[in-house]
Amino acid sequence: MNFNLATTAYLGAAILFILSLGGLSNPETSRRGNLYGVVGMALAVLATIVGPRVAAAGVPWIIAALLIGGSVGLYAAKTVKMTQMPELVALMHSLVGLAACLVGFASYVDTSVQYQGAEKAIHEVEIYVGILIGAVTFSGSLIAFGKLNGKIGGKPLLLPARHWLNLLGLLAVVWFGREFVNAHDVQSGMTPLMVMTAIALLFGIHMVMAIGGADMPVVVSMLNSYSGWAAAATGFMLSNDLLIVTGALVGSSGAILSYIMCNAMNRNFISVIAGGFGGGAPAAPKADGAAAEPQGEVVPVSATETAELLREAKSVIIVPGYGMAVAQAQHTVNEITKTLRERGVTVRFGIHPVAGRMPGHMNVLLAEAKVPYDIVLEMDEINDDFPDTDVVMVIGANDIVNPSAQDDPTSPIAGMPVLEVWKARASIVMKRSMGSGYAGVDNPLFYKDNNRMLFGDAKKMLDEVLVALRA
Ligand code: NDP
Repeated sequence: MNFNLATTAYLGAAILFILSLGGLSNPETSRRGNLYGVVGMALAVLATIVGPRVAAAGVPWIIAALLIGGSVGLYAAKTVKMTQMPELVALMHSLVGLAACLVGFASYVDTSVQYQGAEKAIHEVEIYVGILIGAVTFSGSLIAFGKLNGKIGGKPLLLPARHWLNLLGLLAVVWFGREFVNAHDVQSGMTPLMVMTAIALLFGIHMVMAIGGADMPVVVSMLNSYSGWAAAATGFMLSNDLLIVTGALVGSSGAILSYIMCNAMNRNFISVIAGGFGGGAPAAPKADGAAAEPQGEVVPVSATETAELLREAKSVIIVPGYGMAVAQAQHTVNEITKTLRERGVTVRFGIHPVAGRMPGHMNVLLAEAKVPYDIVLEMDEINDDFPDTDVVMVIGANDIVNPSAQDDPTSPIAGMPVLEVWKARASIVMKRSMGSGYAGVDNPLFYKDNNRMLFGDAKKMLDEVLVALRA
């Protein structure tokens, strides 16, 4: 394939990626968006392999690497559970970071192209910045992976003078950058490059370790953005326009998503990155599960009593959370919704922007179960309606309905907007135990007079509610 044809193919792929992002912004067009992305990527890979910059001798190596990588990816995609998706995404981000580092070192030791003067300086800055972003993305994403799958606790690690440490690291990176660009040969440039890589790796670990449980959504989308910039940096190092465009698309859309997440969580972006939010709890237990100190008595209900409450209601709001995803209860939720609507009950869904473990987690599950989109509302659209609602059914959600975000300034989730379910006439919280949510804090909602607890696995309990409703 000649140069012009390869450029045209790259342009086509870039357009398909933009269409893909557009399609993915809405559940109704997301399948089409996905397809555009797949076709665009296939075109990009093909144009690269048969393009002018790959020698024929290298093709079998590339195909072998594609087969190995593709098989691992296919296996992971087929076996991953929906609730493990965020961890998988974090792991993928770490691979993009690692690739940027490896390409950076390979470009530096590659002497087949000789750069001179300003061109040499630009190439070295590209390598330095590329490895810097790649290393932060790599180590930060690995820690995010550990935090999301529970292997690393959700409690933030707050080192004394951590902001000074970060500043010191930044100054060192700038100083070693100067040393690197001024180095006369590869041998003498390698030391500052490796020292900077070590600092960047430590910074990535420190940055994500300092984030409190409830602020992880911002970090996940921020690392998504970093992985895009790492890919763009790789594109600069390899002089590959498509990689630059694609990286910039991922980088900027990830940055926009982080900004939206910060707004939704009422967090200051810089403060979240610098660490320290989500750390105010005096007794935050480990993320996902451990029970906090009880604050009072709770009133349990049975599935039959829940069905009765729902049957008598005129308006119902369902608030799904991470537990609905764990239990895979979305199809039963849809059946209950249909049954109630057939009986004339107004049923709507209230979706918190960080419900579950990834942006849009609940929307994806509800769309999969074919819940009509027009009754699925964002938090801002529905929060004022709780006082006029008869029954709220909270399915496996915890942090996103925690009133202490509003009432307790010392809470790690203080200031985070929440769904005000306690303002409804009655609320029913469905979960297995009194265990805490991801942020590891107790939830005063459970002890409110108008709240009932339906203990058990969400799918099992909802199946029982459905049977009782239809009886
Ligand atoms: P939470 O993690 O706060 O609570 C989920 C609840 O589900 C738990 O308390 C658990 O209680 C219950 N649960 C678990 N399994 C089941 C089951 N099989 N059946 C019934 N209940 C179950 O989830 P939320 O959705 O309320 O909040 C999301 C949290 O995750 C926020 O803190 C957010 O910041 C964080 N986060 C969000 C990300 C995102 O992008 N959306 C990314 C990373 C973190 P029990 O054990 O008693 O059953």
